Amino acid sequence: MATSSSHLASFLSFVFTILFTFNIAKAQSNVTRGSSLRPTGATTSWLSPSGLYAFGFYPQTGGYAVGIYIAGIAERTVVWTAKRDTLPLSNDSTLRFTTDGRLVVDQPQGQQISISDTGGIGAAVASMKDSGNFVLYDSDQRTILWQSFDHPTDTLLVGQRLVAGQALFSCVSVADYSIGIFKLSMQIDGHLLTFPNLGFPDVTATQYWWSNTPDTGPNVALNLDSDGFLYLLQNSTFYIKNLTQGGYRREDAIYRLKIDVDGILRLYFRDLNNTGQNDSVIWVSSTDKCVGRGLCGVNGYCYVMNDAATCRCLPGFDFVKPGSWSSGCKRYYTAETCKIPDGDKGNFSQMTRLPNNTYWEDAAYALPKASNQEECSLACTNDCKCEAALFTGQSCRLQKLPLLYVQVRDSESNVGLIKVYVASVNNGSNPTNYPSDQVRKVRQVKFLVIAVSLASVAVLVLLLSGVIMWRSHVWAYKKISEHVNVQLFEDVGLRGFSYAELEKITDGFKVELGRGSFGIVYKGIIESPMKMVAVKKLKKELAQEGEREFQTEMKVIGRTYHRNLTRLLGYCCDGPERLLVLEYMTRGSLADVLFHYKESKPCWTERIRIALDIAHGIFYLHEECETPIIHCDIKPQNILMDEYGCAKISDFGLAKLLEHDQTKTSTLIRGTRGYVAPEWHKKLPITVKVDVYSFGIVLFEILCCRRKFDNSLPSDEAILEEWVYECYETDELFKLVNDADVDRRTLERMIKIGLWCTQEDPSLRPSMKKVVLMLEGTVKIPIPPNPTSFLSVV
Ligand code: ATP
Repeated sequence: MATSSSHLASFLSFVFTILFTFNIAKAQSNVTRGSSLRPTGATTSWLSPSGLYAFGFYPQTGGYAVGIYIAGIAERTVVWTAKRDTLPLSNDSTLRFTTDGRLVVDQPQGQQISISDTGGIGAAVASMKDSGNFVLYDSDQRTILWQSFDHPTDTLLVGQRLVAGQALFSCVSVADYSIGIFKLSMQIDGHLLTFPNLGFPDVTATQYWWSNTPDTGPNVALNLDSDGFLYLLQNSTFYIKNLTQGGYRREDAIYRLKIDVDGILRLYFRDLNNTGQNDSVIWVSSTDKCVGRGLCGVNGYCYVMNDAATCRCLPGFDFVKPGSWSSGCKRYYTAETCKIPDGDKGNFSQMTRLPNNTYWEDAAYALPKASNQEECSLACTNDCKCEAALFTGQSCRLQKLPLLYVQVRDSESNVGLIKVYVASVNNGSNPTNYPSDQVRKVRQVKFLVIAVSLASVAVLVLLLSGVIMWRSHVWAYKKISEHVNVQLFEDVGLRGFSYAELEKITDGFKVELGRGSFGIVYKGIIESPMKMVAVKKLKKELAQEGEREFQTEMKVIGRTYHRNLTRLLGYCCDGPERLLVLEYMTRGSLADVLFHYKESKPCWTERIRIALDIAHGIFYLHEECETPIIHCDIKPQNILMDEYGCAKISDFGLAKLLEHDQTKTSTLIRGTRGYVAPEWHKKLPITVKVDVYSFGIVLFEILCCRRKFDNSLPSDEAILEEWVYECYETDELFKLVNDADVDRRTLERMIKIGLWCTQEDPSLRPSMKKVVLMLEGTVKIPIPPNPTSFLSVV
């Protein structure tokens, strides 16, 4: 156990090493009254003497935050944030240590945010310490009036204590330092626990990690020593509990305990002698990534994909706020008034089975007798109050909405069933009421936003032209307008970049993400707000064709917004240069995920999720967009995967916009061999069903994790769709997937959907809306005919 002398010794050696490691010999003097900082420019922070810690501005979603971060390492690591309830701060903010000794942030509207409470006494000096503590001193320069260590946010540093009554709160996301939903509380009775900060009075009912030290208080505090020793100490004397054993590397290292965005406590270690190395986690409160209760909000569920927690909505539900998991999910249609199944009139609702091993917070209002899943399902269908049922093997637990803390766990053997309202078989009505009032409202809002954005863009363009003319650079504008349809700028409310800006953003087009037939895609970082982007640089040689692709891509994605479509953030038309700035998709393309890394191919549940994501994206393009869009090139290379494993459709260069009331179009063949529908070759009219065909082929590839053509396989297996139908006919579907964890009933359902989608006759293929409902299990799937049985006479 660390003594105070060993603390001092290791601290001094630590500081020395930092001075040595970072070659920052200049000690920073104290911050004096009248000093100020701005979010951008040469000086954005005040450094500690060694340069390891900095107090100042850093980017945060939507603007800036003020706080402390580790500055001596490559990637910014924030350890303390001021006034998390007032974020983001505008980029016109000023942080000031005022002439009367207060620490404040001035906002452009004249509002002043006070960062420190010194009890009305003006501080004489401020100092950023090498320990990561920011301190305000009285005029004797020794008495501490205020220090950041007394007001922890989400991190505990060496030497800092979390005392009884204090708490750490997670952040909303890795780029948003506002207060998130998880809390680590040091209780006054000595108990340390984590729970969702949702305002429930009985926190022990929702705790998901605890130290098991209730009633050991008072005055118990959580401490972290310089050798990574994490422990509970009472009255600074008695050891209550060791959470880690300590004794890790003591010197030249930073240890920090953090409650992460997912609600898990992690003790991080960084070797300062090895600047190329990232932080390593030396202790974790739970290895279950989905342990943070409420991570996915109500009606959402958590599962682990590629070693990270991922959230999904229950079937029939969509995220309340895309991008904010903890806001939960709500039904994306207005539920049909409950009707009990009545013989021939058909069902109005259907129970859909959730992934295996689903579990949620039990709040059952009834436990009817049921000896199997079917009886439990029927009990819920026949009860208008019931919205979900959990069959545990022993009991059938009926539940109302919302469902809380839904998880998919390996250890549970429950069957979760959710009620989804479906079309009545006989009356042909549309009980899902799709689109719902909510969707209509969203459309109205979207329309308003687009109208306002267009008006603003028009005004901006006018202003810009004026300025350009005034500066006698009219020639430059003329040059651009020779190449580009100016209407485009007015149509699309996107950010324009100059070529020089994009050159800087991509560090001279250094990191290549991939190549397509129209150009190369590079990685870049933009500031304000800081984010990674993908910059697609179109080949100049393809002048005319490339220009068409560029303009189509801008027109199409510039108008769309959906969680399953890649977002276009900006463009560049600088002389002959044409570039698109897209949201960066960290996990690359679906082709990479399915075919390149055999050992880490997605598990069965993930494959189904990916298929559903793509189907949702295409459905949006076909039926929910203001102007229906045919993508024309759906294939795994054009599906990109974000950091959460969410699939997004990209590459709209070949897309076709359908004019109002137009359902068909005729055009030259577009798309990629193997994925294009037969009608392209037959020169038949082109409809949205060409995308349905391509989706069917991609669905087979996702389910089987193999390419459409594979010459290395025996000839009867080489062409995937033919092999699939053969296996379906002979009832040997298991040959298609070698995985042990494949659910056979779902496999059959998915294959049937794929066979319907790949029918040669476009009129036999379902609409994308129907495909979504089939994938979600809300409509029955008839037996598909042989896809090639339709012999058309052209
Ligand atoms: P083609 O245009 O010939 O159909 P493609 O669709 O693969 O081919 P691009 O859209 O230019 O062509 O993309 C090329 C590659 O760049 C993709 O396969 C992907 O690996 C990478 N890429 C494209 N966009 C992004 C992005 N937004 N984020 C991350 N990587 C991307």
